[in-house]
Amino acid sequence: MTWHVLGAGSLGSLWATRLARAGLPVRLILRNRQRLEAYREAGGLTLIEAGQPQQYAIPAELPQADTPIHRLLLACKAYDASSAAASVAERLAPGAELLLLQNGLGSQEQVAQRLPRQRCLFVSSTEGAFRPADFQVVFAGNGQNWLGDPSDPRPPAWLEDLQRAGITHLWSPDILARLWRKLALNCAINPLTVLHDCRNGELAQHPAEVATLCAELGELLQRCGQPAAAENLHEDVQRVIAATAANYSSMHQDVAQGRRTEIAYLLGYASAAAQRHGVHLPHLQHLQQRLVRHLQEHGLPVD
Ligand code: NAP
Repeated sequence: MTWHVLGAGSLGSLWATRLARAGLPVRLILRNRQRLEAYREAGGLTLIEAGQPQQYAIPAELPQADTPIHRLLLACKAYDASSAAASVAERLAPGAELLLLQNGLGSQEQVAQRLPRQRCLFVSSTEGAFRPADFQVVFAGNGQNWLGDPSDPRPPAWLEDLQRAGITHLWSPDILARLWRKLALNCAINPLTVLHDCRNGELAQHPAEVATLCAELGELLQRCGQPAAAENLHEDVQRVIAATAANYSSMHQDVAQGRRTEIAYLLGYASAAAQRHGVHLPHLQHLQQRLVRHLQEHGLPVD
């Protein structure tokens, strides 16, 4: 069965090239004719691993192509997920499966609500990739991909394809707990790196701020019915700060490069959940206000 990959960005290219390298049928879906022409001119997608580039001439098409889609990897940013899914909705075969690669929470529900007849699997990825140029991707960090379906704990048979392609993965019967935990880690680290304009490691100089946020996030996770995601959160945040000390967080990189952030699906989602549950989390709320102000001052969207 063909893997349709929507979005030839960092993660979409990383998945598409590895699937194609394993001899699996892959087709890219690019947003418009201009992108499709640019892609054809490039001659394919280039995966750069350990400094070695290798090009794969993966076929590409527009969202409006007329062939049915049975399996779709949705590899865009969280704020594009719902409209991107809508752009191919008519092509989705009954019972088609979607893998949603978006970070944070909220976009998965938006897509699943739009497509109630399709199976939506959620992915939480700790792999790292970036684009040095159009249609090129650098595999920058090994990691893990957790896959799961909140409404069906049975793993799909095609996980074998991922095995064959060397895409490290684990089936997660509780994918929401994974996504909540990652969201909490992100909320405790990324906004502070933006506001202090620093690398992750420099947050070790703000221990009280980090500890207070972790306590509030832990309370939020408990109230949202995610006790497993709350366990040892503060220790884990400190571990990540130390392990990634030299890195700039993804949100810091986005702001520094004038790119839209995924704030609405990270800190924004956490703040909205706190409000919905009637939990008063003053530090988290203040952090959200400061971050929104900071983005506005830099002329960046806050949704
Ligand atoms: P990215 O490099 O910005 O790629 C997103 C791609 O989606 C872009 O190529 C964009 O096309 C495409 N796209 C958006 N809307 C589209 C549409 N309607 N039709 C066709 N293509 C569309 O983003 P990314 O870094 O891969 O991130 C994807 C998700 O993975 C995010 O939620 C991110 O947080 C998460 N994530 C990323 C990493 C990483 O290392 N990169 C790691 C873990 C998680 P254009 O190029 O035409 O704009």
